[in-house]
Amino acid sequence: MKDELDTGKKPNWCSGCSDYMLLSEIKSAVRKEIESGNTDKESVNIVTGVGCHGKVFDYMDVGGVYALHGRVVPTATGIKAGNPSLDVIGIAGDGDTYAEGMSHFVHAARMNPDFTLLVFNNEVFALTTGQSTPTTEKSKQTGSQPTGNPHDPVNPLKIALSSGASFVARADAKNVKHTTRLIREAVSHDGFAFIDVAQQCPVYNPFDREIEEKMSPLDDFTGADSLEKAEELAEKWSNPEESNSLPIGVLWKEEKNTLCDKYPELSNLEERGTGWYQFRE
Ligand code: SF4
Ligand code: MG
Repeated sequence: MKDELDTGKKPNWCSGCSDYMLLSEIKSAVRKEIESGNTDKESVNIVTGVGCHGKVFDYMDVGGVYALHGRVVPTATGIKAGNPSLDVIGIAGDGDTYAEGMSHFVHAARMNPDFTLLVFNNEVFALTTGQSTPTTEKSKQTGSQPTGNPHDPVNPLKIALSSGASFVARADAKNVKHTTRLIREAVSHDGFAFIDVAQQCPVYNPFDREIEEKMSPLDDFTGADSLEKAEELAEKWSNPEESNSLPIGVLWKEEKNTLCDKYPELSNLEERGTGWYQFRE
């Protein structure tokens, strides 16, 4: 029987790609949110960027838009500002977000628009056949740096925390149950809910087995009880080879005014209407 969230198109990622798992986790989380009465199919909107991840939108029968490269965050922010009653999920890649889109990412953490951002972080530009991104491991040989990447990678978790993000999480794509729960937590959070997902690209950047084995879920989904502790957890991901345990789960969660709270006129749907077309009248 066709799933109500399924477009009926057959996914065609490479064999063994983590994107298959992530598609199933996103669908499962959305389905559970609908069944729990927290949202409905018509209210779910997806924004994808440019990269292998972008095909998620081909396979999910919900509203949304393909954004330009690096522009998932401003597009999702605009959709939410245009109609705050929607549940917006941005899906982007690591090159997409931390290279072309880095400034948008920092300012979203600062301004707190109410949407979820899932970054499929395989530490490589996969769609364009294996160039380095800002999260590529130092010394790794890639298509754009065949003698090895000379740069230290950025730590997106630390950037999000230092920029003021109200929800910061790290997920492991192959931990299906845990990642599904994290997505549900993010979708129900009021504000910018950011999940950096460790995933592999078996073609251009297969998983490092040692790091995989060190990943360990945090005890609950409440986040650390201080920003300092959250930063300590995030720091473990700066040098994964040197850490004994790598935390996955919600590192930080707090209540903060969202972008719409800061501009109350945005949320007054009765006065200004819900459709973008009404802005044009
Ligand atoms: Fe997945 Fe890598 Fe193939 Fe893209 S190139 S579909 S990320 S395995
Ligand atoms: Mg990538």
